Amino acid sequence: MIGLEVHVQLNRLKTKLFCGCRAEYQGLPPNTNVCPVCLGLPGSLPVLNKSAVSHAIMVAKALNCTISKSFNFVRKNYFYPDMTKNFQISQYEKAGGVPVAHSGWLGFTNNSSERRIRIRRIQIEEDPGRLEHPEGIGSSKYVLVDYNRAGVGLLEIVTEPDLASPDEARVFIQKLRSVLEHLGVCDTSREGAIRADANVSVDGGNRVEVKNISSYKEIVKAIEFEVLRQTKIVEAGGSVSRETRHWVEAKGMTISSRQKEEEQDYRYFPEPDIPVVSLDEDTLQRIFDSMPELPDARAKRFVEQYGLKSYDANVLVLDKGLADYFEETVKLYANPKIVANWIQSEVLRQLNEKKIEINQLAVTPRYLAEILYMIETGEISGKIGKRILVEVANTGLPPRVVVEKLGLTRIADVEFIKRVAEEVFRENPEAVEDAKRDQEAVNYLIGQIMRKTRGRADPEVANKVVRQLLNGG
Ligand code: ADP
Ligand code: MG
Ligand code: ZN
Repeated sequence: MIGLEVHVQLNRLKTKLFCGCRAEYQGLPPNTNVCPVCLGLPGSLPVLNKSAVSHAIMVAKALNCTISKSFNFVRKNYFYPDMTKNFQISQYEKAGGVPVAHSGWLGFTNNSSERRIRIRRIQIEEDPGRLEHPEGIGSSKYVLVDYNRAGVGLLEIVTEPDLASPDEARVFIQKLRSVLEHLGVCDTSREGAIRADANVSVDGGNRVEVKNISSYKEIVKAIEFEVLRQTKIVEAGGSVSRETRHWVEAKGMTISSRQKEEEQDYRYFPEPDIPVVSLDEDTLQRIFDSMPELPDARAKRFVEQYGLKSYDANVLVLDKGLADYFEETVKLYANPKIVANWIQSEVLRQLNEKKIEINQLAVTPRYLAEILYMIETGEISGKIGKRILVEVANTGLPPRVVVEKLGLTRIADVEFIKRVAEEVFRENPEAVEDAKRDQEAVNYLIGQIMRKTRGRADPEVANKVVRQLLNGG
């Protein structure tokens, strides 16, 4: 059983959650994106970012949650240098706390089964500052603190323990990222934009909470490790102890961490500086109406508008960038099925090999469309097209230039192919004998022509020429 507590940075907002400092802090010199409010200086007061509430409500709606008509904020008190106030403004579902939303679900297809992962609740809270341990946690002589991030809006999305495997967690995260990207509330590729704690238990045993997973790429790795660790303990006849562990990215393992505060240590109480937020129907409706197309609706449209298979449509919309790339390419080369096939095979292979996102791929929609045109007009073969795509991905050169540089245009010149064929016939007398009876030997001879021309001979012409020669010229 796996349950996730996913932290999503509201990094498409202009400002932080309770002050006018910028929400985008990356690349700024340390401690320059701060003000009396996010530093918690005496006399300062927080003011809730209205757009942050809209973003939270859009996410809640997209995750099929019940949205609270009225909700409040709480103080979560703790002493730690990542927050100068010594408390974090957050939400809570107990002790008079009402979070922005609860009881939803996120659906996806995995291994051809329909899955619905229940969402327990969604909370709005502020991000703490960033601590930098120059030589790693526990071994540094000093720690640096940067409050540029302190006060940036976060959503905490808590699932029920419905995820049944690391693979399912992978697809869940993918789908969640896609929803967030479609809503335009989070640039999920930014460092630290998605972080998580993962709760894992095996065979009804104790649950272990893995903290400190600092990017979406690490979530599945952390879960895989933890499942393996617990399974081994159980197989050896032991039992897993209930504990909090840390994911150590550099080592690729979880380690037991000192017991952190218990729930009651946080002394949660309603935040006195922020009034209860009440939303009327009109406001809610206006927010719903402003929501863009979501992945499921988009997949449905891909099936209806472009005639894609549902499976293919779902693969595309699982990554907003990929779905955008598809639609861009189809605008330039109007055969959606061919485009979808190429994206799912050749383009995805490049992304996997290079470990990059689609927007980093040198093969732009325009370049892909150009390659597909060259194939359609017969200028190059499909096989050469694939080679060109790889070359464009590696060099960033336009497909045209690659074709000329590598001399890859298709050879349809009958006389030329005939000369190559005659050479092949001289070198393979036995195959020529067999070819009079055996189709496989014919294919072999054609294959030799393709080899000598490095795949550039037009296979139909080669086929014709071979048959002519076999029939005596
Ligand atoms: P806490 O308040 O201590 O953080 P919660 O009951 O709120 O605990 O659950 C936190 C997370 O742990 C949720 O995502 C939930 O799905 C998950 N969880 C609960 N029970 C289990 C379990 N037996 N195995 C794995 N995950 C679990
Ligand atoms: Mg928790
Ligand atoms: Zn500030």
